[in-house]
Amino acid sequence: MNQDDSSRVLPFPWSRAAPPHSPAGAKDLGIGRMAQRLGVGDTHLNGHWCSRCQGIWYGLMLETECPACGNRRG
Ligand SMILES: [Zn+2]
Repeated sequence: MNQDDSSRVLPFPWSRAAPPHSPAGAKDLGIGRMAQRLGVGDTHLNGHWCSRCQGIWYGLMLETECPACGNRRG
C-alpha cells in the first residue's frame, strides 16, 4: 500500500481539526447520504475530498460516495 492510494480514500488531514465548513478554495458539497439518513451530528462527520467536484463533502468515515456527483474515487 502506498501513500497515494490511501490518501484517495482517507479524509484529508484538516477534516478532524476544522469545523464543518469549506477550507479556502474548496466547494462545500454537502452531507453524505448515509450521514443524512442516520441524522449524524456534525461532530461525527469527516470531510471527504471529491476530485471531480473539486470540493469537500462531509459524511461518515466509511462513506465513499460524493453526494453531489456520486463519485466514489475521492
Ligand atoms: Zn463530487
